[in-house]
Amino acid sequence: MASRVIPVDPFDLVIFGGTGDLARRKILPGLFRRFCQGQMTPESQIIGAARAEMDDAGFRQLVADAITEFGPKDANPKDIAAFLTRLGYVAIDAKGDGGWADLKSRMRDGYVRAFYFSVAPALFGDLAQRLHTNDIAQTDSRIVVEKPFGKDLQTARALNATLSEHFREDQIYRIDHYLGKETVQNLMAVRFGNMLFEPLWNAQYIDHIQITVAETVGVGGRGGYYDTSGAMRDMVQNHLMQLLCLIAMEPPAKFDPDAVRDEKLKVIRALDPVLPHHIVRGQYEAIGEQPDYRSAVENPRSRTESFIALKTHISNWRWAGTPFYLRTGKRMRSRTSEIAVVFKETPHSIFGPEAGSHRNALIIRLQPDEGITMDVTIKEPGPGGMRLVDVPLDMTFAEALGPDAQDVPDAYERLIMDVIRGNQTLFMRGDEVEAAWAWTDPIIQGWEARHDVPKTYESGSMGPDDALALMHRDGRKWRDVR
Ligand code: NAP
Repeated sequence: MASRVIPVDPFDLVIFGGTGDLARRKILPGLFRRFCQGQMTPESQIIGAARAEMDDAGFRQLVADAITEFGPKDANPKDIAAFLTRLGYVAIDAKGDGGWADLKSRMRDGYVRAFYFSVAPALFGDLAQRLHTNDIAQTDSRIVVEKPFGKDLQTARALNATLSEHFREDQIYRIDHYLGKETVQNLMAVRFGNMLFEPLWNAQYIDHIQITVAETVGVGGRGGYYDTSGAMRDMVQNHLMQLLCLIAMEPPAKFDPDAVRDEKLKVIRALDPVLPHHIVRGQYEAIGEQPDYRSAVENPRSRTESFIALKTHISNWRWAGTPFYLRTGKRMRSRTSEIAVVFKETPHSIFGPEAGSHRNALIIRLQPDEGITMDVTIKEPGPGGMRLVDVPLDMTFAEALGPDAQDVPDAYERLIMDVIRGNQTLFMRGDEVEAAWAWTDPIIQGWEARHDVPKTYESGSMGPDDALALMHRDGRKWRDVR
């Protein structure tokens, strides 16, 4: 299949926090790949901005090092050199007045203007305000804001209000990189591009849905932040919630930003409150040289969860009675993110009880290898009678799509290109974020009121035993991820 990279309009992209971890690991190497693919045109420019004093040459060196460390291993030095010419740097303190005139002088008329706020959320308001007072933002400029978007409903509302003083909703791109994954979009293609699935996509045929986002790493150097957040705020309120929405939403009338986001919002608003005994929280134990959670965050009395499993329901016609099980955690057995849509058994087995129990399952895997498989039941080949076996049917069709299927953009690079195109479909709207907090807030407040202490779990396991029991009580089990 021929490459179908469509160049985006030439742009001026300012990355506030351009020297930080996220910029070096994801944003800049991602832009480099889009440049190599011809999607970022050579007229475009990228300006890093942070407090550190540095000239353009210093920033280019920093980016060259970032590409070497985090970019494609086979990067062509000529491509790197060409990309670096598109970079500049301005020293700016988000809370100060210096540097803004320099930034303004570098912005060019007639180019798409985008500002990526890759800094602590406490600085978002300062940046939004100074972009305006210094007359740098224009009526069609875009801002990209990173997570976390608030830490509860009240702070999210305040942040939305602050940003909306200076930017319209259609200028604000709240990023959730899970939505930029190829497979997440493929999920929508599979659901809404085929006649096959949609008639079965409801409580009548689907037994339950499980969403797992497991990480093998601990809190690492982010202990200070993580301990004020925990798995519920850091993962469930945003990433898992977004995945749940895409699985559960009604078909939008068209694939356009507000039509899709309206449907997602309806799902969040239809979520039932979670009962306390339908939630399991955990904190990982030490393993080898690796400290336990409380030592890692340097808070021996911490009650923050590094693992959570919960069961919830969506109160609407489509999903009444179908449980959604969500789990996420750190220091787990494998780095796996997947959604499993588990169908009901056939109403009657013509093969008798000895054929065992079989269920179709549609597995949408986000990592490590993105792809979609469908577990189907077939006859075990060979003699020996009618023995049934479940086999995965690969729906990724990498071979059919050719080498292009391997060369899909990383989530961040895809999303940045969407910002330049002005397409908000894969970004969270303000009301969605607020609705998600409105669902999570009472859960967190309940733990705080009860002084709930998370259960410990072995590092390298799949969480506390109670998480297994959450499923077993319902006669179900978590998929075995490895
Ligand atoms: P980081 O490594 O601490 O980098 C922060 C950046 O902001 C640096 O470039 C820093 O440079 C700059 N900065 C700090 N204070 C500033 C100020 N007053 N004015 C202007 N620039 C300032 O943080 P990060 O990990 O890159 O995270 C950035 C944002 O992305 C955060 O909102 C974070 O929650 C979010 N995020 C990060 C990740 C990740 O994997 N790292 C993942 C998801 C979301 P100077 O100190 O020189 O100013």
